[in-house]
Amino acid sequence: MKPDPSVQGKNEKGRTRNKSARPPQKIAARKTVRSTPLPDCGACGFPMQQRICFTADGSASRGCPTLTRKTVLASANREYEKPDVHEFARQASLQEAACYANRHERPYVMQPTKTRLEEICEFAGRMGYRRLGLAFCIGLAAEAVRVEALFKTRGFEVVSAVCKAGKTPKSLIGIRDEEKIFQGTDESMCNPVFQAELLNQAATQFNVLLGLCVGHDSLFFQYAQAPTTVLAVKDRVTGHNPLAAVYLADTYYQKLKKTGKKND
Ligand code: SF4
Repeated sequence: MKPDPSVQGKNEKGRTRNKSARPPQKIAARKTVRSTPLPDCGACGFPMQQRICFTADGSASRGCPTLTRKTVLASANREYEKPDVHEFARQASLQEAACYANRHERPYVMQPTKTRLEEICEFAGRMGYRRLGLAFCIGLAAEAVRVEALFKTRGFEVVSAVCKAGKTPKSLIGIRDEEKIFQGTDESMCNPVFQAELLNQAATQFNVLLGLCVGHDSLFFQYAQAPTTVLAVKDRVTGHNPLAAVYLADTYYQKLKKTGKKND
């Protein structure tokens, strides 16, 4: 969850606090009016440049939120009237464009020039952030050393926390021995709440995630007070490139499409 400045107040130390940070809960699907399908942009059947969200006289599929969710859109867009949201979004948009070269050329063919690492450094600089948080997985400890050094080279102060910090045993969350990775050992749990609180206490201005597991990253987002971005997500099989499985879903990763498959 992205921190929402609209719901921030002050905590006991006078720092802004994301009031929406709360433990995850099961969320029941809301009843919807049968005649209004749920938004499903992922299944939109039109080429991108012919869609109504891309061009004013474009086409729209059933349930298109551009056409069917105008009240939600108006409400969402009012959020940008808040100065901090406005500025954050403006700088993000400026940074987005700055990642392409020669934008004056016509017709324009996109010429991306910046890595995500560069993008993060530049965006943090635009926002005037000095102190960055780095929350990383122990499996990417070597990468964290490099990333932290790079951030420091770029003039940032870095506060970093590894997932196993605190050495809290997995028994705290009810994990039995046969449910551990290394059975028969005193295995520590990943502790994204502790990681977030460490960075909160250090008053980091912008957090960067590096390789946290699915779910652990979700908890970090929920408990972190500063805005958070992701440098890399963990994928144990593809060298942390989860899209490799997507690109190969019609060939070598066809097993992903087995109907009804949830767990091995
Ligand atoms: S907003 Fe509408 S047109 Fe755009 S992708 Fe979604 S369904 Fe398609």
